[in-house]
Amino acid sequence: MQFNDITAQRPTREGLAAQYTELAAQLDRGAVSQAVSRWEDIRRETDTWFSLANLRFSQNTANAQYKADRDYADQIGPLVTDHETQIKRRLLSIPQDQMGPILPSHVLALWRVDIASFDPAIASDLEAESRLEARYTELLASAKIPFDGRELNIAGVQPYLQSLNRATRHDAARALWAFFQANCETLDDLYDQLVKLRTKMGRTLGDAVFTPLGYRRMRRLDYGEAQVAAYRREVLTHVTPLVSRIMRQRQRDNQLDALYAWDEPMIDPAGNPVPAGDQHFLTSAARNMFESIHPELAGLYRAMLDGGFMDLDNRPAKAGGGFCTSFPNAGMPFIFANFNGTHHDIDVFTHEMGHAFQNYKSRVQPILDYFWPTMDAAEIHSMSLEFLAYPHIGHLMGGAADRYRRMHLIAALEFLPYGVCVDHFQHEIYARPEMSPAERNETWRRLESLYMPWRQWGDLTYPASGARWQAQSHIYRSPFYYIDYTLAQCVALQFWRLSNADFSSAVERYTELCSRGGSAPFTELLSSAGLASPFSPGVLEEIVHEAEKFLSIDNGHHP
Ligand SMILES: [Zn+2]
Repeated sequence: MQFNDITAQRPTREGLAAQYTELAAQLDRGAVSQAVSRWEDIRRETDTWFSLANLRFSQNTANAQYKADRDYADQIGPLVTDHETQIKRRLLSIPQDQMGPILPSHVLALWRVDIASFDPAIASDLEAESRLEARYTELLASAKIPFDGRELNIAGVQPYLQSLNRATRHDAARALWAFFQANCETLDDLYDQLVKLRTKMGRTLGDAVFTPLGYRRMRRLDYGEAQVAAYRREVLTHVTPLVSRIMRQRQRDNQLDALYAWDEPMIDPAGNPVPAGDQHFLTSAARNMFESIHPELAGLYRAMLDGGFMDLDNRPAKAGGGFCTSFPNAGMPFIFANFNGTHHDIDVFTHEMGHAFQNYKSRVQPILDYFWPTMDAAEIHSMSLEFLAYPHIGHLMGGAADRYRRMHLIAALEFLPYGVCVDHFQHEIYARPEMSPAERNETWRRLESLYMPWRQWGDLTYPASGARWQAQSHIYRSPFYYIDYTLAQCVALQFWRLSNADFSSAVERYTELCSRGGSAPFTELLSSAGLASPFSPGVLEEIVHEAEKFLSIDNGHHP
């Protein structure tokens, strides 16, 4: 299959109205299972069109046609949601004993949460929200940062932030933050509008603040704010002290007077190991790596490569970041990334390929809602593959494999305090939507010093003022999503422990979990794979102990 052959009908107001009128007529006639299966086809087609529109815009944010399609997607999106919500409501009104043979109970629970997240009264607010989010994306993609005699975009600055030369790192960080500072008012204003708009939607749907709606939009069925708060405390209690010790060791290893924010990326005192070759080398070496991990993974990778299902170069006007998307009418995933010559390039093969593999394995699930799990579980497959790749990472890293594993494990642990800080910040923001930009920055500063007490911004006055959060796109574009990465990381670290004990059984367990897709909520998927829930106390403590041994980090307990 070739990516260029994938097409989908552009949804129109009239077309959607006709399709959904026909579905309603089928349901009126009592032809429930025919209606469900016809609806499934419609949804797969529409979903594919949205994926293509988003992907093409990300591939070239300067193309007028792609931008027009993406804007059109923003306009038509709420209408699609409206139609879908009405059908979900209809189907949920059918007695459970009649629905049981047609649809599994988990999807009905997901739809109940969807219904509670949408009302036609918020349709225009949702449209406005998408427009604001797109403005943030465009603003960041438009960055032209003067550095090293060139004009760089944000991804282009990243390699300099990891330079062995301290002055280069410092200057690159200055140049990067100067871009955010120059756009300070726009960034504050966009976020202010987003927070107020989201709060308004929460209130329209009957809550005092946005947070409960934010959780429902994430389709969280099996845990709430209290469990998330308890998990953040586990990170603070067990992981923050370990990372503090790692940072002190980093300062000693790099023989620094102080460890400033621009020194933090120097995980390896000899310089963070870089891939053993360029994009061409890596795409070919990755074939061998996947063959060593699992034959099915290798098969999918070859099909994606041969079919053009990857866009990896860093080009002007291409949106930043990396993601994996899919085309449900074709059953194939697509990987989008921006290669920059650092170890981040490895993520394409170890992280995004995990998403792609899960989606591909789940394509035989009976219903679109199960093709991807909810986001908390969706990151498990990607982050766990990063650890399952450890024994075979030499294909990509050459002689630097040991240094890579050490750097990767440290980065995974360091991520947890930052990730829960991003989550805690959003809880406070949406609890007090009237906060001024200065109060928001003050909130970030307070939480940053709680979860990351080692952080020193030195003379970088802009992030020092608490504006660091503006560079975290999820805060703008995907409220309350960020904690999901930390929950999944906690599960991925369990896969690391399992694979240390028995590699092939860990890979088999992983493959089975991938096939299960989104057929159960987060904690149930975990228990089906024999993994512990991050919400059960003690899980992180055990991980921290094994990591201390692996990394030979002084545990800080002196007799
Ligand atoms: Zn991911």
